[in-house]
Amino acid sequence: MPLPFTIAIDGPAASGKSTLGKKLADALGYLFFDTGVMYRAVTWAALENGLDIDDEESVARLAQTIDIDLRPPSQADGRNCDILLNGKDITWQVRRPEVDANVSQVSAYAGVRQAMTVQQRRIGARGRVVMVGRDIGTVVMPDADLKIYLDASPEERARRRYQELLARGEAADYEEILAGVRRRDQIDSTRDLAPLRPASDAHRINSDGMDAEQVFSVVMNLATQDDPPAS
Ligand code: C5P
Repeated sequence: MPLPFTIAIDGPAASGKSTLGKKLADALGYLFFDTGVMYRAVTWAALENGLDIDDEESVARLAQTIDIDLRPPSQADGRNCDILLNGKDITWQVRRPEVDANVSQVSAYAGVRQAMTVQQRRIGARGRVVMVGRDIGTVVMPDADLKIYLDASPEERARRRYQELLARGEAADYEEILAGVRRRDQIDSTRDLAPLRPASDAHRINSDGMDAEQVFSVVMNLATQDDPPAS
């Protein structure tokens, strides 16, 4: 049985999708493509340009004109890749709290999703890719060869995000992060367009109480075994 040509990983905020996706891509020699950073880049660009985030038309127009590029990491500072906005490095800017607070609203706009989905499908069609997001198995690559839906409780996810921020020397408030995680879950899973939900043929994994290595080994087994049945 050949390796899956395309792998889709979906799940809520801070469920460990990016960590898993990166490890998997490295192990298989595939491209790691975190689609969340594209929505983050649009949000950052909108804030930087002083746009009113409630102004759907202007934000969508911006999404259709900016150039977002992902490149191999140019610095060993914990980044998975460089995120370039019109050629400028915004890798860490897209992780700022003001982006966290607005990205779910921006990503619910039809014009924004359309612009991002076109780019994501183009990259997916080349294959040998691990694509990570909210709607990869359902909308962007419904024919992906292996689909994973990675979940964890809101408390566990907030704790991980909190520790990540502390590790980068940033200020963090656990209760605030937990409230933000819940708010984003609510918006992402109830929006009309491409809501967060597992594809019917996705393997569902709840990572509460599992570390990154354990999750990786479960998924690596799925990727290398014959015809894995969806759970
Ligand atoms: O995965 P990450 O938390 O970086 O994603 C940021 C936001 O981008 C999510 O909260 C979600 O609103 C949006 N997103 C999306 N579809 C994707 C990836 C991310 O709507 N495929």
